[in-house]
Amino acid sequence: MAYKQRILSGMRASNPRLHLGNYEGALRNWVKLQDDFKLYCMVADYHALTTMGDIPDNIGAYSREVAKDYISAGIDPRQSSVFIQSHVPEHAELHLIFSMVTGVGKLERVPTYKEKKEDLAEGRAVSYGLLGYPVLQSADILLYRPHGVPVGKDQAPHLELSREIARSFNSAFDCDVFPEFKDIIDEDDLRSKVPGLDADDNGVLRKMSKSYDNCIYLTDTEDEVARKVKGAFTTPSKIKKSDPGIPEGCAVCQYLKLYSADWKTLWDEDVQGERGCMQNKSVLIDVLNEFLRPFRERRASLDDSTIESMLKQGAEEARQCASETLSLAKKAMRLT
Ligand code: ADP
Repeated sequence: MAYKQRILSGMRASNPRLHLGNYEGALRNWVKLQDDFKLYCMVADYHALTTMGDIPDNIGAYSREVAKDYISAGIDPRQSSVFIQSHVPEHAELHLIFSMVTGVGKLERVPTYKEKKEDLAEGRAVSYGLLGYPVLQSADILLYRPHGVPVGKDQAPHLELSREIARSFNSAFDCDVFPEFKDIIDEDDLRSKVPGLDADDNGVLRKMSKSYDNCIYLTDTEDEVARKVKGAFTTPSKIKKSDPGIPEGCAVCQYLKLYSADWKTLWDEDVQGERGCMQNKSVLIDVLNEFLRPFRERRASLDDSTIESMLKQGAEEARQCASETLSLAKKAMRLT
């Protein structure tokens, strides 16, 4: 097999089901990239434990479900190494090493840390793991000394800290164990922020997110998709078919743009009052179910023993690269 540059990607296992936003904003790009790069595709179980009190009751089962979603979305385990973070203990060890070259002040200034800290109910303790999240994330990435990391547009700033940690390590131990990696950014605005099925209190579409409970999941059945689409947010002032629609503010029209080749005509007719919201919803139900059909077929062919052996193999492949990097790091530190 020809040599391929490495890339690393992953999602947290804080929920057992991935949604269309996760697919469009991340997975779709990974699937595309795996032909040209050696993809290490991680299920981040440790990262799902960073907020004490929100600890999933069965993180192991969640992780396996997320891995199944990766495969059903088109990640090919024959080309890519799919693995669970905690099955590759080098992640924890490099995290510890990186914590020695990372200033606490820098971590306290990370915007997502500040937001998460504020989101926690009053009186709840902030875990050390929450503060150290970017340090573990840096270990996740740098263990594979990757060419690049696929990342949504809004997430790119998070990776800057990983580059800083790599530079700190290289400078502290006078080495070049951790080379610079690139952000592989998907520039598509709609795909990097897929709206949910609902709108906020001001009638503005908001991001699809499991915390808003406004998702279409990759595992939803045909009937669930139909039910959810029927209840989706459309232009509030379009009561009758002849009322003009505003596709930019309508969840159904946004999904049509993503999944229907005829979306331009559908949008025009919506604006002209030649189409009603129910007609749009009915088209969307068909195209979405068609889009999800191969996902459902791949998932149906995955039993527990297949996924177990795939994850075992994925972890072995990941460890080969990770242990080599860790040895280089320890050598640079004169620990060996
Ligand atoms: P959630 O908001 O449901 O908790 P996560 O924060 O776990 O999702 O996101 C995991 C990945 O999926 C990230 O790469 C993120 O950029 C992407 N993602 C999440 N929601 C969306 C969305 N609505 N549109 C596009 N990408 C998304």
